[in-house]
Order: sequence, then structure tokens, then C-alpha cells
Amino acid sequence: MLAEETDILKGKLKEVFGYNQFRGNQQAIIENILAGKNTFVIMPTGAGKSLCYQLPAIISDGLAIVISPLIALMKNQVDQLRAFGINAQFLNSTLTKGEINRVKRESLNGNIKLLYVAPESLTKEENVNFLQQANISFVAVDEAHCISEWGHDFRPEYRRIKEIIGQLGNLPVIALTATATPKVQQDIQRNLQMEDADLFKSSFNRTNLFYEVRPKKHAKKQLVQYLAKHKNNSGIIYCLSRKKVQEVAEILNVNGFNAAPYHAGLDPSIREKNQDDFLNENVNIIVATIAFGMGIDKPDVRFVIHYDVPKSLEGYYQETGRAGRDGLQGECLMFYSHNDINKLEKFNKDKSVQERENALILLQEMSYYAESPVCRRKQLLHYFGEEYKVDNCEQCDNCQNPKEKFQAEQELKIVIEAALTTGERFGLTHLVNVIRGSENQYVKSYDHDKLDVYGKGNEESIDFWKSNVRQALIYEFLEKDIENIGVLKVSERGRKFLKDSYPIKFAKDHEYATDASEEENSERPRVDSKAYDVKLFGLLKGLRKKIADQKELPPFVIFQDPSLEEMATTYPTTEAELANVNGVGMGKVQKFGQQFLSLISDYVDENEITTASEVVIKSSVNRSKMKIFIIQQIDKKVDLEEIADAKGISFDDLLKEIENICYSGTKLNLDYYIDQVLDDEKQDDLYDYFLNADTDNIQEALKDQDNEDYSEEELRLMRIKFMSEYAN
Ligand code: ADP
Ligand code: ZN
Repeated sequence: MLAEETDILKGKLKEVFGYNQFRGNQQAIIENILAGKNTFVIMPTGAGKSLCYQLPAIISDGLAIVISPLIALMKNQVDQLRAFGINAQFLNSTLTKGEINRVKRESLNGNIKLLYVAPESLTKEENVNFLQQANISFVAVDEAHCISEWGHDFRPEYRRIKEIIGQLGNLPVIALTATATPKVQQDIQRNLQMEDADLFKSSFNRTNLFYEVRPKKHAKKQLVQYLAKHKNNSGIIYCLSRKKVQEVAEILNVNGFNAAPYHAGLDPSIREKNQDDFLNENVNIIVATIAFGMGIDKPDVRFVIHYDVPKSLEGYYQETGRAGRDGLQGECLMFYSHNDINKLEKFNKDKSVQERENALILLQEMSYYAESPVCRRKQLLHYFGEEYKVDNCEQCDNCQNPKEKFQAEQELKIVIEAALTTGERFGLTHLVNVIRGSENQYVKSYDHDKLDVYGKGNEESIDFWKSNVRQALIYEFLEKDIENIGVLKVSERGRKFLKDSYPIKFAKDHEYATDASEEENSERPRVDSKAYDVKLFGLLKGLRKKIADQKELPPFVIFQDPSLEEMATTYPTTEAELANVNGVGMGKVQKFGQQFLSLISDYVDENEITTASEVVIKSSVNRSKMKIFIIQQIDKKVDLEEIADAKGISFDDLLKEIENICYSGTKLNLDYYIDQVLDDEKQDDLYDYFLNADTDNIQEALKDQDNEDYSEEELRLMRIKFMSEYAN
């Protein structure tokens, strides 16, 4: 491009938008589209994509069409452009007939420079007819990843765009997106028939973002603790369901944070207000479903938390990208659990087989990311087809706390050999089956059990080998086959390594327990075995044993293990804090509390530990009404079935409520009911059992030979009686 032409561009940049310099690739992109060439732009959010079509639209003769999926965004952009003095309009379903006619008239007059069109409107025949008469400079396809079902926001109407553009003449196309894996990129180019396009891809590395994944255990507690350290900062918390959004927002407000919910189920006026409150800093935290954030240009979002696991890494990257747009530090924290992955899989069960498989593959990528010991940044960038060569990014949990590494030269050779000798036509699971010498029919049907590599890794676990295959992929010894999703091929680097290997280190994956409870609203949470203070737990157990021996009671009557674990997590030092622990009510605090509290206080002092007051979260759920009702009814000796009916809950749920009440230390006298269902002898029998048992676990009780005549319900009723009389 000539110097004068560059000057013209720069002049317009300053004159219209007020900027002195182009950013990154902007100028090259603009020149490319002005030269009438197909242009493909992949640029992270916030880098300045819009300018890449807005400026050429202003300079060119005629009108540029901008296809954009979000109606709300359209209005925003058009308003901004008008503020710059540019005549931009939009065409979508929110306009009245009269407005549509006006837009059409102005378009044909040549007054409009940019016309934003929703894909649904574009495909309407009457609009196609009208556009055929207009003088169009070029077409911009914004959010182009919507074309691909392998992205995170597939919109079937996007697939028809090329067909329509074709009807409008031979127009240059500029496609833009903020995320595109190599597969999505290929989809976009194929679908828009612009394989010839010049590609302008910026780095996806957001150096100011810190990435972290934590196990989703006691997530609300962790959340409150985290937010307490980020007081006064703006942040977004993403949840998967509207219900969860409401619940989390409520919990945060009860705990003194300033949070507002945002999801599609809210009244539009409330949604808008909450969004404005966030932008204007009347509210610090927005708790949202993924519906929030498109087009939100708040520069100082300091943290983005994924309370639930997102559906794809692309979505994750996109959402975390809303942190730190001003270039200052932004923290991205994700809570991860297998459970979430399972739940998401279930959401997909009504989809077609194909869609379900696609969604599953995206979800798998998500769990690989979470479980992997490899630098998060390296993984994210690799996902978008970018190699990150730095060893330690210093801005992710895996780099800050590296997992111990092991020599993996032999393992890597086995992985590559497996991919190569099976013909580079299989995915991770099959490779692992071959390596571990699985008896799987599928393996045999390909004669892969006859390969040299078959069974070479039979001494290690499936997870170990899966992790090695994924690391081989991330370190680019293997590569994904773009044409066949899931298939792994051997890269150049892999072939070289096999011929001439060298020492290399891998690490083992993070382990996430599958069972423990994730959120503390559940009846009696189990604390993650790693999450509590093992030393304190030991001391508490010792104290419990001492008291139990003195009183000649089984230890569980005093406090149950989950309660002790929770104490060893939250360090209660006052009676009120202790009463907040699950399974500990005021009754028990009064009876046994003092000794436990003084033990914990001493321990906390000696070890300089953060105490409960900083950790305990208040629950927003008002269960006390139910509780009071049940206690009153039992006092009046009302039949349990009747109580359950009155509250509209099952008998089983009622028993659970009663157990909760009882385990929290309130005495309940159920004799009037128990006497109806169990005779004296049986009662004595069961009493004896609980007095001598090591545990009050009902499953254990059911397994005991002596109890074979009793039902689970009977055992539970007697346990309540027993606990009430002995413990409370
Ligand atoms: P994207 O669509 O890529 O997320 P935008 O087009 O919304 O990003 O631009 C992000 C921000 O950067 C906007 O506030 C925009 O005004 C600003 N911006 C774009 N180009 C430049 C530039 N050359 N100089 C300064 N600011 C720019
Ligand atoms: Zn890192």
C-alpha cells in the first residue's frame, strides 16, 4: 500500500474514532479487505475486531453488511457508531414495519455505511430481494465460529449465510471470531467457501490472566473465602443453571457481598438493571449464566469464577477473557468435579446422536484440561492451535505448584509407537486399550493384540496412560486429525522422537475424588479427606474417645466423624461457631462443647490459623420453620405419617429431617410412635446394638447378622431414639 493510502487510513482512524495507532493486525486486515480479498480474522476478545470492518466500511463506496448473531449487541454497536457520526442501521425482528421500510429506503439511497443484519433476517426472501438492489461494498460475518458445531455457540442459520451472499453478487467477505480451534477454523472457511482467504490470527495468550482449577468441595465456602480476599473488586461468577445463579447470588448477599443475578429467566427490565448496576459499580459481583457478558466491555473485571464446569474449553476461554481487559491482573478460577461433567452429559440426552457425541468430545476436553498437570496457558493455547514455548508461565496453578515429574522417555515412546503401529486412525481410548493389553473385542478385531506395543504398559492404570497420551498431544508429539475428530496422529516431532529419543519428563494428573459432596447445603456434608486439618482431626478424635470412655458411650454419640472433619476445616472457637457445624446443635454445644472449643482455640493459637469467623458462611435457606413444625408436632405426639403429609414430604424425607434435628442436639421423644411399630424386646435388642456398635452407620447396621429381622426404617427410628436419649 502506498504511503498516502496509509496516511488516509490513519487520518480516518483519528478523525472518526479518535485513535492514534492501529492495534496489532488491524491495519493489515483493513488493507486486505479494501483490496477486495477474502479475509479471516481470529483475534481474542477486546483486541479490536469491530474496527477491522467499521473503518473499511466508512472508506468504501456503498454499504457494508455486518452479520451478527446478537440483537442486543447490534443496537449497542449501531448507537456507538452513530455517536461517531456514522450512519449505521440494523435490520432485525425488533423493528416495526415502518422502521424496516425506512431502513430499506435509506440503504438504497446510499446513505447508510453499515447495515447490521441478524442471520434470521438475512435469510428472509424479501430482504434478499431488497439487498440485491443495494450497492454493497463487502460482507462482514461477525462471531463466525457460530457456523461450526465444534465451537461453543453453534447457530444453524449461520450455515446459510454463504448461499445468501452468493445471491447478492461476488462480494469480498471478512469473517471474524474471538475463538477458533483449528477444527472450527476449517469449518468456517469451508462453509463460507473462503479457503483462499488471508488469515490474520493474533496470539490468544492473555498474559495478565491467572488460571486456576480447584476441586469443587465445599464450593460455597471456598467462594466466600475467595471473595473476602477480593472485597471491592468487580467480578463475574458463572453458573450453569438459573436456579444455581439465584442460589449463589442469595448466599453472597446474605454473607455481606454485593451481588446481583443475571439469567434469561429474569424480567428483561431487572436483567438490564442488574447489568447496569454492575457496569456502574453499584454492584460488585454479577452471578450469571453464560448469557451474560457478550458485548460487556467492562475493563476492570478482576476475577471470573466458574462455579460450575463450563461446557467447552472455547466457552471457558471466552468467558475468562472478560477478566482484565484493562491489562491489569485478572484471576480465573474454576471449580471442577466429575459430577458436573456427568450432569452436563445428562443435559444432552435429548439431542441427536451426532450432537451428543460432539458435546461429549467438547466435555472431555474440558475434563482433560482440569485434570492435567500441564501449564494451563500452554493447554489453552494448544487448544487454539498455538504453541506456547515458555516452560513456566508463573501465572497458573500448575506452574506455581508444579506436580512432581517422572522420567517419561519410555512411556512417550510407547504412546507414539501405539499411535503409529495402529495406523494413526484411532483415538485416545483405543490407544490406551492397546498399550494396556486390553482384552477388548474391538482391539482384537483389528489384530492390534498382535502388535509389539500391545500390553507394554499393562502394569500401569488407565488414567496413567490417558494422561501420558494427552501430554504427548499437548507437547506436540501427537496431533489431532482435523478431518476426523478424536483421531490422533503422530507429528513430525513425534516421529523424530521415536527414532532418536531423549530424556523428557511428564507429571501425573490431578486426582479428583468422585464421591464427596460439593456444596454445603446438603444434609450432612462429608469433608474431602485432603481438605481438613488431619492433625487437628486426630486431636479431636482423641478428645472424643476420652469423653466417650468417661461416659461409657460409643464415640459417635458425642460427635460424628463428619462433624469433627468440619471442625478441623473451619476451626470454630466460639459456641455460636461450633453450633454452625453440621450435626452440632446448641444442645450438644452445651453438653460437650467446652472441651472441644478449648482444644481448637489452643490449636489455632499455636499454629496461627485462620478461624471460623472468616470461613463460616451463612445459609440463606430457611429451614428453621420446617424444623420447628416437626418438633412441635412430635411434642403433640402426632403420627409421623401425618406430619409428612402435612408438609407434603415423603416419610423418608421426614426421617431425614428428624435425624438432622436429633444430630444437631435436640432431644426428640418418638416413643409414642416407636411403641406402635416395635415391641419392647426388639427395642432393647436394637438399643444394645447401637450401644456396642463402632459406628451408627445404617448400612453397617443392616449388614449385621443380629439385625436381619429389622427394616432400615426401624433401625433409623431406633437410632434416633438412642441418640436422643444418650447424646442429647
Ligand atoms: P472485540 O470485538 O475484538 O472484542 P472491540 O472491537 O469491541 O473488540 O474493541 C475493544 C476495545 O478496543 C474498544 O473499546 C475499542 O474502542 C478499542 N479499540 C479498538 N481499536 C483500537 C485502537 N486502534 N486504538 C485504541 N483503542 C482501540
Ligand atoms: Zn502455567
